[in-house]
Amino acid sequence: MNIIDDVEEAAAQLGALLKASTRLAVLTGAGASAASGVPTYRGAGGQWTRYDPAKYASIDFFRKDPSYYWSFFRDERYPALAKAGPNPVHEALAELERIGKLSTLVTQNIDGLHQAGGSKRVLEVHGNSRRFVCQACNAVHDFERVRALIDDQIPPACPDCGEQELRPDVVLFGEALPHDVLTAAFEEMSVADMIVVVGSSLVVHPAASLPLAGVQAGAKLIIMNIDPTPMDGIAQLVIRAPADKVLPAAVERVKG
Ligand code: ZN
Repeated sequence: MNIIDDVEEAAAQLGALLKASTRLAVLTGAGASAASGVPTYRGAGGQWTRYDPAKYASIDFFRKDPSYYWSFFRDERYPALAKAGPNPVHEALAELERIGKLSTLVTQNIDGLHQAGGSKRVLEVHGNSRRFVCQACNAVHDFERVRALIDDQIPPACPDCGEQELRPDVVLFGEALPHDVLTAAFEEMSVADMIVVVGSSLVVHPAASLPLAGVQAGAKLIIMNIDPTPMDGIAQLVIRAPADKVLPAAVERVKG
């Protein structure tokens, strides 16, 4: 196992590997958004304290009491997401897509920051908390529009059909992952020649099984995560340096 913690050395090795890749798939997790300051409910106690993740992130509780989620969204999630912008990780991955070097971007994140950073095609296996869908008429509404609605009433009424049936387009605890997105993600991983994991600890499904599907089909695996992961042993290269430093420098080498 080749473990590197030096930014320059990591960028040099990663850059060379990326340059040689002909079909690159990238999987991102919470660590990719760390430099954007997006609070999460995972990790040491979570950063949101006034609301209980067992409630606001659970489908059973959402069905019972949607107002709880909407209060959480209005008071904590919206202000946090509205402040968070794309960081150099998001921008570097968007650049790889632009220059035709990235075939697939799969993310566990629900913060929408890959698109904000310029990525066009993103497979979001846990959904996107900047997007809302009406369970009555299937209309999709964006973040700012829904924010304006909840000034008037909670739960908000759908601007299209008037029903109070909006929900976040995210996978809540107790729900299955979106089948079509997951299937596409597995297919893309299994035809990649190289998989780069950025900022995922690779412990929860599908994060762990996606790269494994690629490795079993013959792809090289590169893991960029600040802490060890259970898959480090099968990786060609393990980078334990900040992704927001390493990735942009590696992309410059691909272009140079
Ligand atoms: Zn509707």
